[in-house]
Amino acid sequence: MGRSEVTIDLGALRANVRRLHEALGGSELWAVVKADGYGHGAVDCARAALDAGASALCVATIAEAVELRGAFADARILVMGPTVEIGLAREARLELAVGETIPEGLPVHVKLDTGMGRWGVSHLQAPARNVVGLMTHLATADSDPAFARRQIERFSEATADYAHLTRHVANSAAALRLPEARFDAARCGIALYGLSPFGTDAAEDGLAPVLSWRSELALVRRLAPGDSTGYGRKFVADREQWIGIVPVGYADGFRRDLSGTHVLVAGERCPVVGVVSMDSFAVALDRSLPVGAEVTIVGPGVPLEEHARVAGTINYELATRIESGPTRARRVVLAA
Ligand SMILES: *Cc1c(COP(=O)(O)O)cnc(C)c1O
Repeated sequence: MGRSEVTIDLGALRANVRRLHEALGGSELWAVVKADGYGHGAVDCARAALDAGASALCVATIAEAVELRGAFADARILVMGPTVEIGLAREARLELAVGETIPEGLPVHVKLDTGMGRWGVSHLQAPARNVVGLMTHLATADSDPAFARRQIERFSEATADYAHLTRHVANSAAALRLPEARFDAARCGIALYGLSPFGTDAAEDGLAPVLSWRSELALVRRLAPGDSTGYGRKFVADREQWIGIVPVGYADGFRRDLSGTHVLVAGERCPVVGVVSMDSFAVALDRSLPVGAEVTIVGPGVPLEEHARVAGTINYELATRIESGPTRARRVVLAA
């Protein structure tokens, strides 16, 4: 397998699209594939999402959109982040999220700031002719539904006269748990990938993780009491201790602050010990295991949500940082 292998299961992604459609009760699902599909591969994930019934693609930057346009000649592609590259956007037949200034010659979605405190206008003017959508973004759909409902009410009031335009508010968390956020379409990212927007067990919301990450023990050795492993001698054996070295490190996206999390070695949970290096980390074993024993870094029993809690971050950040390509983790895409 090389040093490690990331598997992207597009069957799981299609199942997540179906699950979101169920939750959305008739509203459109727009697939958010920014940041290379949250690290899962934008083009593969976009194709699977469109196949399964998503009706548009959403990204953050013009460059991301132009890449998708190359693969999907006819798809609706919305750039949600602010941009000055209007000419490029027109040429690539993109749609843009905008604030005060409405560029001409392409379809735009006016963004209202109802409480996120970031992009968007606070008051809606009568929409120009090329405005096709009205949108807002929720700050707390995953954590404070009461505040999210206040944002939804503000949006609803401000846009009531323009209900003929496509109104879209919900992200994944709102699509799954706030029916009043549905409007005409929902922009879903994290849930497409089978990851929980709530940082909990994704299965609770009927989602199936798309990404798994495996490696193998590259070295197994026994530490005598007082021996250490890794930089800074942060792990010192207090008794005879078997350890395994996994050839994956922070340059692969296995962050330094994942020391203390667990991975599966030959199916058993083992703690990551010592400091994570650029190209490897160590696991404590309770016995000698053969070199080549399978290591599951992310997969059933060791979900990304658990690693995120250990690292003090969110699954979004871990997923977007997993490094694959010709020099790091090998990527395998399962189409079925
Ligand atoms: C990233 C993003 C989303 C998707 O959020 P998820 O929590 O991943 O579903 C939706 N809307 C906007 C404006 C975004 O930037």
